[in-house]
Amino acid sequence: MRPATWLRRSRPLIPLLAVLAIVAFERQALACRLVAWSGFEQVAPRVWVDPELPAAQRTEALRLVTRAQKTIGEFYGAYRARPTIIIGSNLHRLSWFGANAYASTHYAPWGAAVVIGPEGQNEDVVTHELAHPELFTRVGWWQNLTQVPTWFDEGLAMQFDHRDTYDEHAWTVLRDAGGLVPLESMSDSSHFFDEHAVAHYTQARHEVAQRLERTGREGVLKLVDELAHGAPFHDL
Ligand SMILES: [Zn+2]
Repeated sequence: MRPATWLRRSRPLIPLLAVLAIVAFERQALACRLVAWSGFEQVAPRVWVDPELPAAQRTEALRLVTRAQKTIGEFYGAYRARPTIIIGSNLHRLSWFGANAYASTHYAPWGAAVVIGPEGQNEDVVTHELAHPELFTRVGWWQNLTQVPTWFDEGLAMQFDHRDTYDEHAWTVLRDAGGLVPLESMSDSSHFFDEHAVAHYTQARHEVAQRLERTGREGVLKLVDELAHGAPFHDL
């Protein structure tokens, strides 16, 4: 069959193929988007919890979310992101949403979703995770997907995350052990989140902290603004 004929005959299938592609690539983000039909309970605008999460834990989780949004908002000037936030302590019931024990963020053309797991209900993890949708919201889905290197996204989120596993001392130990890698090798998520992810988080935190020290908060915000206007990513 000639390509033109093939294309003409396949045209009615394009919307179906697009839907299948979205379901395949954005399955977990789609599940988060459909959380209202999952049996989870809404406890605040865009915040959903596992119905079995005890009342005290719900209250604490909401407090952490509010506090995180305030902290990130102080850095950016305001917290503009409006992610869907899903919180639970049962990994099995959270698995549909693409959860891990700590937290995960899903980016999709229709918005971001954050899933907080049983080990993630603390200030460091919640603030780290809610920093991802803020950068995503400011630069936009396409720019985030095509321009923002994973090391920068994670390194910026790590500025709000003070767990000592990834701190400056951990970075020194990593450096002295010869464990630092070229930044380009941490640009895409499949390499960043490999078996050396702890080292990558540690290095990404240090790298972005260095840029913040050099350019100030203004330098980073200027880069974010340029990305929002379609510019390619450039290192600071
Ligand atoms: Zn992260």
